Amino acid sequence: MSDVGRQLTRRFNTPSFVIRLRMIRVHLTFIVIFYVTIFLAAVAVFWALEARRRHRAGRRALQFQIRCAICGLEFEDRSDVPLPSCPRCGRPNERVGLDRL
Ligand SMILES: [Zn+2]
Repeated sequence: MSDVGRQLTRRFNTPSFVIRLRMIRVHLTFIVIFYVTIFLAAVAVFWALEARRRHRAGRRALQFQIRCAICGLEFEDRSDVPLPSCPRCGRPNERVGLDRL
């Protein structure tokens, strides 16, 4: 048995060949790069999910917003009326999302 084998056997109270079977030689650089990559991937996934949630919330908030084509007043109308009238000038307006104007 080699000197290192005797040290491992003494340290872990296990035969050295068992310890050698369990050990995988990995460079510290690889470990650091691996965990940094995993961390950055997790951050990217959370960032993408949050951006998608914010985008959908923004679209939902603008869903009932209407801008009058005559006076430019932005108002909210949650009714089922196809052409809601502007509260300021009374002109009927089409339902076009504000993000598409
Ligand atoms: Zn108007």
